[in-house]
Amino acid sequence: MSPNVTNLNKDQKINMSGTTLLKESGPREVFCGLTSIVWLHRRMPDAFFLVVGSRTCAHLIQSAAGVMIFAEPRFGTAILEEKDLAGLADAHEELNRVVKDLLNRRPEIRTLFLVGSCPSEVIKLDLSRVAQQLTHAYKGRVQVLNYSGSGIETTFTQGEDGALSALVPLMPEENSNNQEQLLIVGTLANAVEDRLKTLFQRLGISNVASLPPRKSSELPSIGPKTKVLLAQPYLSNTARLLKDKGAEIVEAPFPLGVEGSELWMRAAGKAFNINESLLNKVLDPLIARGVKALEPYKEKLSGKKVFLLPESQLEIPLARFLHRECGMQLIEVGTPYLNREMMECELKLLPENTRVVEGQHVEKQLDRVKEENPDLVVCGMGLANPLEAENISTKWSIELVFSPIHGIDQASDLAELFARPLQRNELLDNKISSIN
Ligand code: SF4
Repeated sequence: MSPNVTNLNKDQKINMSGTTLLKESGPREVFCGLTSIVWLHRRMPDAFFLVVGSRTCAHLIQSAAGVMIFAEPRFGTAILEEKDLAGLADAHEELNRVVKDLLNRRPEIRTLFLVGSCPSEVIKLDLSRVAQQLTHAYKGRVQVLNYSGSGIETTFTQGEDGALSALVPLMPEENSNNQEQLLIVGTLANAVEDRLKTLFQRLGISNVASLPPRKSSELPSIGPKTKVLLAQPYLSNTARLLKDKGAEIVEAPFPLGVEGSELWMRAAGKAFNINESLLNKVLDPLIARGVKALEPYKEKLSGKKVFLLPESQLEIPLARFLHRECGMQLIEVGTPYLNREMMECELKLLPENTRVVEGQHVEKQLDRVKEENPDLVVCGMGLANPLEAENISTKWSIELVFSPIHGIDQASDLAELFARPLQRNELLDNKISSIN
């Protein structure tokens, strides 16, 4: 343990599955939940995300998503002006007018998400009431939902949890005609999801649905015949709501790396009573290929020290992959929030006494990074440049959310994302020493 760990709140120190869990609070350096609109709007082309926020919110979302030049974007910002913030104008009225204009111009929109922001929360704009009124006003034409993407409350992946939680009440209840189904929950790249569905079909699980679906208006049914397999670790609220609807949550590690993806698929197989020999027949060749493809990256990463700062909530499954499959040493694994129940399978796979820190005090964390001098830091974009300036290689957490990294077939691509910055800095160092 490094000396600076005394900064952490010892009262909150808990031992679980041999892992040291600590809590920390203070200044944070994370993207807000609006960022998740970037992947959600691509996933559901019949939905529109209307951020109710400031010009800062508009800039964030536009620079994160890039400007769509040839297509009409499926996200926008209803900008709250100073007079709205000062309570001098009726923001509800203004919002109704913006929505009316938008829906007149865009008849293809079937679901409209009103996304709350820091400014809308500060002035206590009741977006759930606005959403209910608009749903009533446009009945049969468009469903209006709301969730918060505010940076006061959320980190960037929690935006997806908010959007999916808003969709759950609209999912039709199962009836006697429904068959048992596997529901994959969490946005995956379409190609990755298709591949996983093909594999489940080969295992004999043919009724596989997804949340979010590819059309917001085609939501899967939900009830006791549904077994939920979480593809992303940041969907605690969505999982709770699905459970409340009678669905069973299949406990498994997350499908990152060969091992995580294998255990994830085996857990689904077990939940559907698929026999072991069929599971082995389908998975064994994939595993052998995946392990082989990992070898060159393992060579580069093995023995290197990695420090994961909290941002995406993918940190614990990634740490498990980097240690167990790539041989990296875990210095510290930060996570913005820790849902112990959801992470139990993952925590058990971490080496004894791994330092897992929930929450953030960015200055203290950076002090620990400097003391430990890791080979690689996984962090937000805002921290990457200052760390690179100190000759510490970094990997942006956000890149991991935008890349197709799930499943056995993608394990080597996932490892490559971590090997690349090390290789780049090694090349630069060699170049500099050859000049000197
Ligand atoms: S929601 Fe808050 S943190 Fe996010 S861009 Fe808007 S003002 Fe900034």
